[in-house]
Amino acid sequence: MFRWEEWPERYKGGVEFLSTEEAKKHLEHWHKQGMVITIMAFGTPYIGGICLCDYPDCIAIRMRMDYGVKPALLKGHQVAKVNYEECIGCGTCAQRCQFGAIKMEITTNKSNIDMTRCFGCGVCVYACSREAIGFVDREKLPTIKEDW
Ligand code: SF4
Ligand code: SF4
Repeated sequence: MFRWEEWPERYKGGVEFLSTEEAKKHLEHWHKQGMVITIMAFGTPYIGGICLCDYPDCIAIRMRMDYGVKPALLKGHQVAKVNYEECIGCGTCAQRCQFGAIKMEITTNKSNIDMTRCFGCGVCVYACSREAIGFVDREKLPTIKEDW
């Protein structure tokens, strides 16, 4: 990005340069608002960018969710899991999940996460005022450990 400074006529003031700390703060703020953070890897391990977006605006999420294009968006290394002792059934996590992974159980009025649909984005973790949602490592779950 810094090379862009060499061609100011190209971005015409449309690019704002942030320090690492400013970028982290920005990411955290919008992640808490419900935006999904994705890493754009233009040929792993090279990182081309870190993106904040949501469905249906995010092309990568749409490509994966609506058209099944797997390479467009891979899942994270962790999967969300609910602590049923803490869940009060408010439903906020289900409303925020961009991937349709959370349903509310009618009989128990608790949140139920379908781990096969979870991308591990963490939006639900921030959304829960009860801190009832945590993560487990995907590799510890035999049925989905190869499901990216
Ligand atoms: S946001 Fe938390 S308390 Fe509310 S339904 Fe989800 S897990 Fe339960
Ligand atoms: S971590 Fe999983 S369940 Fe939680 S919001 Fe993201 S995709 Fe949905």
